[in-house]
Amino acid sequence: MKLNSIYHILLSYFLLAILSNFALQGQTVFNPRSPINHPILLSGSFGELRATHFHAGIDIKSKNGVTGDPIYSIEEGYVSRIVVRADGYGNAIYVSHPGSFTSVYGHFEEFAAPYSDFVKQTQYKLKSFELEIKPEPGQFPVTKGQLLGKMGNSGTSFGPHLHFEIRNTKTDRPINPLFYGFRPPDKRPPVISGIKITQFTSDSIEYNSQKFIASANGNGKYKLKTDTLIVDAEKTGIEFSGYDQMDGVYNKHGIVELIMKVNGKIVYQYRVDSFSFEEAKHIYAHVNYTSFFQDKSKYQHCYILPADPLKIYRNSGDNNALISLKQNEKQQIEIIARDFNNNESKIRFWVKRSSKTVTKPSPLIYNYILDPGKPALVNEKSAILYFSDSAIYARMFLHFTQSNSTEKPYQSPYIFINNGFKIFKEKVDLFIKYDSLTPEKLLKTVVVECGTGSKLNSYGGDIFDTYIHAKINRFGTYVLFVDTIPPVIKSKNFKSDMTGLQSVSFTIDDNLESENRSNELRYYGYIDDQWVLFEYDKKSKTITHRFEKNLPKGTHTIKIELRDGKNNLTVFKDKFIK
Ligand SMILES: [Zn+2]
Repeated sequence: MKLNSIYHILLSYFLLAILSNFALQGQTVFNPRSPINHPILLSGSFGELRATHFHAGIDIKSKNGVTGDPIYSIEEGYVSRIVVRADGYGNAIYVSHPGSFTSVYGHFEEFAAPYSDFVKQTQYKLKSFELEIKPEPGQFPVTKGQLLGKMGNSGTSFGPHLHFEIRNTKTDRPINPLFYGFRPPDKRPPVISGIKITQFTSDSIEYNSQKFIASANGNGKYKLKTDTLIVDAEKTGIEFSGYDQMDGVYNKHGIVELIMKVNGKIVYQYRVDSFSFEEAKHIYAHVNYTSFFQDKSKYQHCYILPADPLKIYRNSGDNNALISLKQNEKQQIEIIARDFNNNESKIRFWVKRSSKTVTKPSPLIYNYILDPGKPALVNEKSAILYFSDSAIYARMFLHFTQSNSTEKPYQSPYIFINNGFKIFKEKVDLFIKYDSLTPEKLLKTVVVECGTGSKLNSYGGDIFDTYIHAKINRFGTYVLFVDTIPPVIKSKNFKSDMTGLQSVSFTIDDNLESENRSNELRYYGYIDDQWVLFEYDKKSKTITHRFEKNLPKGTHTIKIELRDGKNNLTVFKDKFIK
């Protein structure tokens, strides 16, 4: 056995000992069982890069690709939290165990009886489908292996699976569950798909990047088409694209450890074993979002932005792992990608600065330079942007302009905030001037983002002097829009004779997408003028009411009131026989 792998095994055991509080708790040995009865195969791994966060758990596949597999508590304890949401983890249960461990189970199809009854009672009491309950320790004790519910697809889930987490109860930090023995078979090394060279000005402002496709060279080794990359800039950052693969599944998983060496010396090391939820949202500092939004390719930085608060970096060399290039001097770059089982892949190449002297790097169109740590107020004719001192991760160019005129159906010129595509560290205040709007229209005015999908993306809006204000989280094109269009309710299976049907479903939709839940649809459903529970599945835009067994035979009325973020109302009303 190589020294290297012995070192890694020792490191894993050492980490396990710390993470499990083994040394501190003494008598408590956390030795959980599997949450399912079939072998564990994963469709998602811990720490993998999602669009808006690092994945805080593992996604466990169903036995046969359908919902309904029983899910069990991995250890004794008590149910400490029950959450029902139309998105996110959907129907979720949290179990607290001795020794400061909490296990989290998401996307249930249905909860086991004591929890489902309790949830339904609470939903009727609060007249709300979505809820979060924190039962007292004595209310729902569980034994090891107690049934919690059935595997499902509720919330933001695209196929039946169990989202499973282990957290430290005291800190609420998720830890890779693979440390506790939930080990799927994995002898396959990661795949390296590409390398990106991002160029920086001499004062460390990013200005462009170039992609190079990697190909396998056998034995876990990868190469680029040309092994020496010529770069114009004095400073460059290396970015990596790749994924892990596990035995018996086709899914692409996250890389657990990434190491970059320059001329044989480690200058960057990333390893994701545990993080806080506060950290998880700072994936925007770790991933190149310009390329993600251009072509969905995920490149992760092998350098660290100055105001990146993530603590998953073990090593950042000098200069945050940015590489200073000299003319005609090759520097050797080696990147090593590892999975949890220490299967590894490597790529090696050289970078060299071209003989060109870069006076003005291109493309470089900007009218402001922003610095992290310094608040900034920038002003255009029709708009103001306010950046707090913690709004950005790195020094950046900002191109802040507006169009010459107002085009229908909008109420302001287009406001352009760009230079590549960046997501802010903290939301930024955008104020857009309105001209002649009636008070009623003013109340319905929202800031919308254009050009990201088929629908306008609403950020909401409140009146601030002669401006409409909203908090935005990224570069883009923004404009004012008066939203007087009510949302839409469409029947999925409603008919005047509902005899023999178990449930009634409708789709609900709006003309605007909702950013930051600012244009959240709110609905109330009634049968015979009594509030009834409609379950909401956001991904399919569906609300469903399951008829009660005690609903008397005969004619009934049904009414649904649906409101968008600006209080535009649609009412569906009809009669049916049951
Ligand atoms: Zn998940």
